[in-house]
Amino acid sequence: MTDDFIALNLDAGEHQTFPSIGRCIYCGASDVKLTDEHIVPLGLTGNALIFKRAVCGTCRDITHGYEARVLKRMYGNLRIQMGTPTRRPEERPAVLRHTFILLDEAMNPIEERVIERPWERSPVACPSWHGPEPGFLHGHPKATDIPGRQWAYTSPWIESFVDEVRAEIGHAGPLAYRVGDVLARDYLRFIAKVTHAYAIALFGFDAFEHWLVPLILCQDDAVSYLVGCHPDIAPAVPNGSAIKIDFGHPVEDLPVLVAQVRLFEFLGTPEHLVVVGAAPAQKLPRRLPLDAHGRPQ
Ligand SMILES: [Zn+2]
Repeated sequence: MTDDFIALNLDAGEHQTFPSIGRCIYCGASDVKLTDEHIVPLGLTGNALIFKRAVCGTCRDITHGYEARVLKRMYGNLRIQMGTPTRRPEERPAVLRHTFILLDEAMNPIEERVIERPWERSPVACPSWHGPEPGFLHGHPKATDIPGRQWAYTSPWIESFVDEVRAEIGHAGPLAYRVGDVLARDYLRFIAKVTHAYAIALFGFDAFEHWLVPLILCQDDAVSYLVGCHPDIAPAVPNGSAIKIDFGHPVEDLPVLVAQVRLFEFLGTPEHLVVVGAAPAQKLPRRLPLDAHGRPQ
């Protein structure tokens, strides 16, 4: 699957901005006020990937809910450590809050304890989700359960951090570190939105059928039918991309566009497989991003 490929390394300042198509990329409305869309939210990768005048107010309101939960509850600490932008920098804390769960010897939870540390003395923790391939690819019926499990990257020194906290709070038994809340349905909807938005930016509105829109607009809860994961987790790519999206046709002559999507490959995260929609089984013509002066190429 390398019909079309993007990999943006934010440390290298790589970014793309796509011209408007004159309608909302989710609902298709063209007679409404449209605003710029961050294909990956500002709060996660800054202005790396922007689609000019691409979303209406109604769709923005719907998608904002789950995007905000993903950014805050999954990536809250990670965003502070990576220095990614926030719309409210004055609210960004100087210390990170880490949640620990005190366990008894039988590993039953006793209580939760929140410990604060300056961000530079905090381990990096990046939660994600690792599940099977999208049900569609295996002919499974649509279902609202989300098979899979939480996945997390943590700094190699997490154990010494846990030991330090155990001594500090004087707990003799085991102590568990909570990496972040993985909200699987919100997270997979968010991955669907990133993929759909980039597919429209790259190929245009009429190049494929928009199968992901009911998921993106919260009209359908069967997220794992179209959004899943690669079964194997590839190794981390040192100094790798923050955003990597690869479009293609997974089965030759199958007229369905599929994307492989990986965020933060430098942390060794799972790679998502997303069924984008019916499309001719051939390489689709590409739209080009704006040039460095903001002009169409
Ligand atoms: Zn809309």
